[in-house]
Amino acid sequence: MSTDFVMQKLRYDEDALAPVISAETISFHYGKHLQTYVNNLNKLIEGTEFAESSLVEIAAKAQGAIGNNAGQVLNHNLYFEQFTPHPKCSEPKGNLAEAIQKSFGSFAEMKQKMNAAATSLFGSGWAWLCADAEDKLSIMQMANADNPLRRGSRPILTFDVWEHAYYLDYQNRRADYLSALWSIIDWDVVEGRLVCHNVFQDF
Ligand code: MN
Repeated sequence: MSTDFVMQKLRYDEDALAPVISAETISFHYGKHLQTYVNNLNKLIEGTEFAESSLVEIAAKAQGAIGNNAGQVLNHNLYFEQFTPHPKCSEPKGNLAEAIQKSFGSFAEMKQKMNAAATSLFGSGWAWLCADAEDKLSIMQMANADNPLRRGSRPILTFDVWEHAYYLDYQNRRADYLSALWSIIDWDVVEGRLVCHNVFQDF
């Protein structure tokens, strides 16, 4: 008998990220879309080789519907966790700032590359800031439920560019949604993902 995966709790009230992300979007995106991925995953893994696996293991290895639903649960957990209504700083500091400097030359350059990856992604998917084993950072663009763990890379920061993430608030203006997201990022959470290599086991 496997232990069911549960919804990761939000760190803020549903209306706290407005106007960047409205309460209505959170209620559908977190409350309906993510809940459906969690429910589907729990149903699909029953009686399979993944019944006792961690979310990270499943998201990294499973194919087909199990891989897609596990990927979406992991990706959304990372996405919702990285926001705060009251960021302590407007850009990265410490180890993360250093790694960004080393890998991209500047924060502005990283931001530009992340925005470009997220804006130009055709259809549904995710833009990622990822780290390799030596903490070298890169930007990746992935379709649908794909995630960096499948490519031996660690997810550090992610932007959901499925239309359900922004359509209620921004309609077709994906670039406006993306540029607003930068103002609600909790850089301590993002830095934690870089520094603590096992942080994803918590999901
Ligand atoms: Mn989503």
